Amino acid sequence: MDRRPRILLTNDDGARAPGLAAAYETLAAVADVTVIAPAEQRSGVSHSITLEVPLRARSLRRFPGFRVDFSPVDSVKLALKRLLPEPPDLVVSGINRGPNGGFLCHYSGTVAAAKEAVLAGIPALAISLCSLEEPDFRPAARLLPALIQRQLERPLPPGVVLNVNVPARPFEQLRGLRWCRQSMRRLDDDYEERLDPRGLPYYWLTGAGPLRGEAPDDDLTAVEEGYVALTPLQIDWTHPELFASGGGGYFEGLEESVGLGG
Ligand code: MN
Repeated sequence: MDRRPRILLTNDDGARAPGLAAAYETLAAVADVTVIAPAEQRSGVSHSITLEVPLRARSLRRFPGFRVDFSPVDSVKLALKRLLPEPPDLVVSGINRGPNGGFLCHYSGTVAAAKEAVLAGIPALAISLCSLEEPDFRPAARLLPALIQRQLERPLPPGVVLNVNVPARPFEQLRGLRWCRQSMRRLDDDYEERLDPRGLPYYWLTGAGPLRGEAPDDDLTAVEEGYVALTPLQIDWTHPELFASGGGGYFEGLEESVGLGG
């Protein structure tokens, strides 16, 4: 590429989040970066989109770009369709505050924003710092220039989102990179029940941590062991073996059972 790469930077923690600022700082040194991100904290909204109310985009003061109501996916969709003069070469989502390995990526707005880019045919990576404290984002940010360089030079196949999870520790204490699969360990979350001042119960989602992997090659294990986890996620949800086998015992005779075909 004989010009500076064009990067769309987004997140789900909102345009004011320190993780986004840290990513901007290192990316802006090597690329033309536009920030288009939710105006407020939107963690856990996954791939939600706004349908029933007008979408607004307002200019940011701190970075070139816009803050969008409502979701990360709204931000990416609006960016690609309307707000950016040209399509970006790459979309970076993060740096998220908190892990997005294993099952968490199904809830994550960070991963969803990257997924939306890939659905539109643009390479994307999601990057998360695996701490819910107010952590130091600089070690994770330091990984970004090389990661985007690799993504631009040797793109992953279409339909693949790169999900990066970084242990919360100083850069020198990161043990390396590990190519991972998504952990299949079920979340250990729950709802805490309390009473409001009127005596009515309300519920608050708790738990899900500390996260442990279940296999030596999964993303959560890698983070636990101090490695940066790189997980290729795919947007084609079709189960390859079940599709190829024609549905096996499940699909056999089903058409007749429902009273069709035959
Ligand atoms: Mn978040």
